[in-house]
Formats: sequence, C-alpha cells, structure tokens
Amino acid sequence: MTEPNLIDAAADEAVTLTSELIRIDTTNTGDPETLVGEREAAEYVAEKLTEVGYEISYVESGGRNRHNVVARLAGADPSRGALLVHGHLDVVPADASEWSVHPFSGAVQDGYVWGRGAVDMKDMVGMTLALARHYKRHGVVPPRDIIFAFVADEEAGGKFGAQWLVDNRPELFEGATEAVSEVGGFSITLRDNVRAYLVETAEKGIRWMKLRVRGTAGHGSMIHRDNAVTKLSEAVARLGNHRFPLVLTDSVREFLAGVTEITGWDFPEDDLEGAVAKLGNISRMIGATLRDTANPTMLTAGYKSNVIPSTAEAAVDCRILPGRLEAFDRELAELLGPDIEREWMELPPVETTFDGALVDAMTAAITAEDPGARTLPYMLSGGTDAKAFQRLGIRNFGFAPLRLPADLDFSALFHGVDERVPVDALRFGTRVLDRFLRSA
Ligand SMILES: [Zn+2]
Repeated sequence: MTEPNLIDAAADEAVTLTSELIRIDTTNTGDPETLVGEREAAEYVAEKLTEVGYEISYVESGGRNRHNVVARLAGADPSRGALLVHGHLDVVPADASEWSVHPFSGAVQDGYVWGRGAVDMKDMVGMTLALARHYKRHGVVPPRDIIFAFVADEEAGGKFGAQWLVDNRPELFEGATEAVSEVGGFSITLRDNVRAYLVETAEKGIRWMKLRVRGTAGHGSMIHRDNAVTKLSEAVARLGNHRFPLVLTDSVREFLAGVTEITGWDFPEDDLEGAVAKLGNISRMIGATLRDTANPTMLTAGYKSNVIPSTAEAAVDCRILPGRLEAFDRELAELLGPDIEREWMELPPVETTFDGALVDAMTAAITAEDPGARTLPYMLSGGTDAKAFQRLGIRNFGFAPLRLPADLDFSALFHGVDERVPVDALRFGTRVLDRFLRSA
C-alpha cells in the first residue's frame, strides 16, 4: 500500500478536487441548449490528467458540444482484462433559493463538502482523479490496466456521453472486462456500529413512456362523448394506481439474507414491504426494487378552457426489474387497452453476481479500513452509465466507497436539497479505492 503520508496527500487532494468540480456548474436539464459548464469540467479534468503526464483522449461527442475525457494507466499484466473506472461530470439542476449554501459553492464547512454533485457524483470523480494523479506522479503500476473515463450527459440517459462513446469510440475501452462507478460502496449502519457497505450489482430497466389519446375536438359547452382528456386521465389513473407483483430477484434476496445474518431481522415474503420499511432511510431505495413501477410524471392537453382538444398526452416513468420485461408489457397492455398510443425510450436492466476476485478485492479494501464491516450486494432502482458499458460485455459494479455517519439520510441527498458529502467519507473512500485499485 501507499505510505500513509502519501495517501493522506491524495485524500486531501480528493477533497479539493471535489469542491472545485462542484464550483463548475454542469447542470444538465436534458436540453443541450441550456448547458453551461460541462465543457469547462471536462477541460478541468483533462488538464489535471495531462499535468501529471497522462496522454488523454478528449472526445467531443458527435460535434454536439458534449465533452468526455478518457485516459489509460498501464498495468503490470497486459494479458489481464482492463478495469474501467468511470464517472459522469454533469449534475441535475438545483434551485439555490431552497439551499442553506449556494449549490455551486463547493463550500467545505461543518465537516462536509456542499453542493450539487457532492454525492452524484463529483465525489467519486474527485477521488478517482486524485488517485489517477497520485499513481502517475509516483510511478505506481497497478496489477492490470486501469481506464479512467469522465463522461458527459449521464443525467439525461448518456446519449451524448457513455452511450455515444460505446457506439462511436469502443476502442477506448478495448480489453475492459469489469467496471466500477457510482451509487454503491456507501455504508449503512445496521446495529451498534456494525456497518454494511452496499455494492451495486443490479439496476432496474428504464422505460420513459409517452401515452397519447386522440379524440374529437369540439366546443366545451356541448354534449361530447369522445373526449381525449377524459380517456387519457382514466388510463393514467389506472396505471398510477396499479401495483405490479412482488418479485424477489437474486440481488435483493442476497441483500436481505445478509441483513438477516447481521441483525437477526426476518423478511417474511407475506410482509416483505413492511419488513423492508424497518431498514429506515435506505428502505426508499430497497423498497423500490421489490416490484416494477409505473409513475405518471407529466400531463399535456388543451389550450383553452372552452375548447375540447383532439389529443392528450402523458409521460410515465416505468422501472422494470431484470427478467420482467415481457410480463410487464402484458400487464401494461391490459391496463391501457387498445386505444392508447404508446411510444418510449428504453434502457435495459443490469445484473451481475456478487462473487469473484473483484468482489473479494472490494471487500478486502473495505474491511482493511473499517474492520468488522460487511459488504452486501444490492439493486439500484435508478439507472447509471453501467447500462451503456454493459453493451461492451463489461461487468458493472457500483463501488464509490464512503463511510457515512449512522444518522445521515444518504439516499435523500441524491438530486436533493443541501446535497453534501462528509470530508471524512471522501478521505476514507480515497484510501479504500487506493487499496482496491492496487489489488483488483
Ligand atoms: Zn449519478
């Protein structure tokens, strides 16, 4: 391992880099016209890498003013598959009037680094960048090639980031067999100071669906039987009130079994949701991985209160468990009936097993820094760039290690107000990642 004073310097730098990255406003609303800082952040990362001697690939995706940076650190054994460490540079919007500090201040105060992106995911980008620089400066040779990728557009599905790179520049990831990135590796405290670190091994699939109903336009004062607004509202209400069946996937089953081992708590199948609720804040995430969901999110119809419009539209955010797509489609068709037009954008689920040398290396790195801790697999109800990289046959994990205070509601910080990350957690995470990258 790195000598203690050297890794301390890398951990200090991780805190500084995270704070500086937050100060670059990389808000991604989904509309490329509104982008302000993504390019600046990519240039910042590129400069930090070239400064210490990396040759980088700076990739502007499709001439669309979206910017990605990829660099490779040669490992000791070129015959082994490379490890990809990737992070996105964009963030979701933040309304400064709701925050205690300015969301793009990157303030380091009260033991936290504050701001939009502090946990999603400029923390991991800061730790990764600090270690990449540390390794180059000190001539560290990892066991196998490490590919560092800093990408655009994750918060809008990665169309001009990871997905674009996989489609257009797959050679940048040549030989990569496994990847680590966000939304995993953080701790939950299950009983008196016994922490479990949740490693993401699966993600639900995403379907962003638009529903459209066509009816007959007419005057709002008359008898009217073919009203698009009425028909759409009925369909949206049926869907929004529907509960899809409870399905226990392997990763969720393994997570719950691990919690039972640590705490003795039971998760009976006849009251699974009740039992999961006892997990506290994290139950928001775990609870959403027990069934498919279809949440209506937008409604659009009409232009004047006395005119019946000929069309009405709704947006529905569907999240589908691995292996459930066909069954989900059947249920959906039954709920909506034949008259509702549907179109959608779909990203597949992700699932791997929680075993093998890479998982052992994660667990060893965690327990070296937090003796007595456990690692457990879990499924993310949201989606990440893992969905893109799995198309290259890469095995994906969420492993951005953070040791968190027991009372911090971590899952609420994602896209939340007063997003922040403990300084101690960043320092811990840098040490764990260092051990992991040197042994993986
Ligand atoms: Zn993210």
